[in-house]
Amino acid sequence: MELETIIGLEIHAEMSTRTKMFCSCNNDKFAKEPNTNVCPICMGFPGMLPAANGESIKKGVIAAMALNCTIRKHSKFDRKNYFYPDLPSGYQISQYDEPVSEHGYLEIIVKGEKKRIGITRLHLENDAGKLSHSTQGTLLDFNRAGKPLMEIVSDPDLRNSEEAKEYAQSVQKIVRYCGSSDCDMEKGQMRFDASVSLRPVGDTKLYPRAEIKNLNSFRSLESAIECEIAKQRELWEAGTPPTIETTVGWDELKGQTYLMREKESAADYRYFPEPDLPPLELTDEQLEEWKKEVPESPLVVYERFLGEYSLSEAEARFFAEDSRFAKLFEEVAKATKNPKTASSFVGTVMVSRLKESGKNLSDSPVTAMHLIELIQMIDSGAISNNVAKSTIFDHMMESGKMPKQIVEEQGLSQVSDTSAIEEFCKKAIAANPTAVADVKAGKTKAMAAIVGTVMKESKGKANPQMVNELLTKLLS
Ligand SMILES: [Zn+2]
Repeated sequence: MELETIIGLEIHAEMSTRTKMFCSCNNDKFAKEPNTNVCPICMGFPGMLPAANGESIKKGVIAAMALNCTIRKHSKFDRKNYFYPDLPSGYQISQYDEPVSEHGYLEIIVKGEKKRIGITRLHLENDAGKLSHSTQGTLLDFNRAGKPLMEIVSDPDLRNSEEAKEYAQSVQKIVRYCGSSDCDMEKGQMRFDASVSLRPVGDTKLYPRAEIKNLNSFRSLESAIECEIAKQRELWEAGTPPTIETTVGWDELKGQTYLMREKESAADYRYFPEPDLPPLELTDEQLEEWKKEVPESPLVVYERFLGEYSLSEAEARFFAEDSRFAKLFEEVAKATKNPKTASSFVGTVMVSRLKESGKNLSDSPVTAMHLIELIQMIDSGAISNNVAKSTIFDHMMESGKMPKQIVEEQGLSQVSDTSAIEEFCKKAIAANPTAVADVKAGKTKAMAAIVGTVMKESKGKANPQMVNELLTKLLS
């Protein structure tokens, strides 16, 4: 029997907001001592009153817009009741039949083909605490309780683990691009539940699915789906296809899915409207304002940067993955009309310097203004590319001073005076007899050593084009 696979994904992403979803506890990403970042609201004490965090509503809506969802002007929060030690209130505040957004889609490219994956809904909810199991018992940390989450539910449009992984990675890029979540998998900021079922090819109905819970890496997402497909295929081939929906876990070490329980249905959760929160009403003005903040999708940025700025595929891919660097690049490229150098300074020099100094782009002393002035000075011949990348960049990173000032203070202007450069060249020829002999014998590669000496002697200030011309003349 020929079978096809049906996969749907639920993605939970922790939003990057200042405070938690329904209280004013801090929501920063830095780890804290367990149970120190809590209050009566996120601990679910009786009598507490939640208040929805405006910033997380906005960030959720912007992500939903970027995922092409329709935004509901009227939505509401509901209680999802279940009992588990990490949930002190006995219910999660989520959205059930009137989510803030629905009916979206996103396009993925798998094996060179574009495919549209439907998005059922994106809704808002709060996270539970965290359990850590050990041989001595189970420990509870409620710092995570009440953190704002968005849940993005796909339609059952995915047909294999590769598409599922590609879809999950695209969602990660888009949500990051919006600034709605950092989606750092290692910090548990993004987790997946994958629903898997099989059916005979040609059949249109859906058969009971297994929902694999809490996958926290792309690799485990792929492997767990593969494993579940294999298990269900065996059942189908034995003539005993699954008859009930199940919730299964993923054992990373064994590389196996295992049965946890029969899957809960909506009825098990006894949803009802959250009585402590008013319905969520969004105005046209609000939605129009927020719409302006929705960035281009990474795929659009990638294609545009290839065409508009003639960047290489690798360069365009880098910027398509990080909207902050993409913005900086565009500003510099437009002002200097030199996208090639702008890409090299933003995507390579800047990135590696920030990494070295342990700084983020947001607190970098070097800004678009610095890079624009720097590239204009290179283009006018006032400084050499090498000095710009090394000495001047060092000073900018340290002091935040503008390049012109640094060049004046340090005397770094490019030397384009023929007699001065000729002097450097003559010295370099005298100092490299072997290389000179090689060049004369036709080994042009040996020239690099002589040029290197000139650059070293001139502290990188000699105009490289003139150095090459003069050396060629002197050695011919
Ligand atoms: Zn709190």
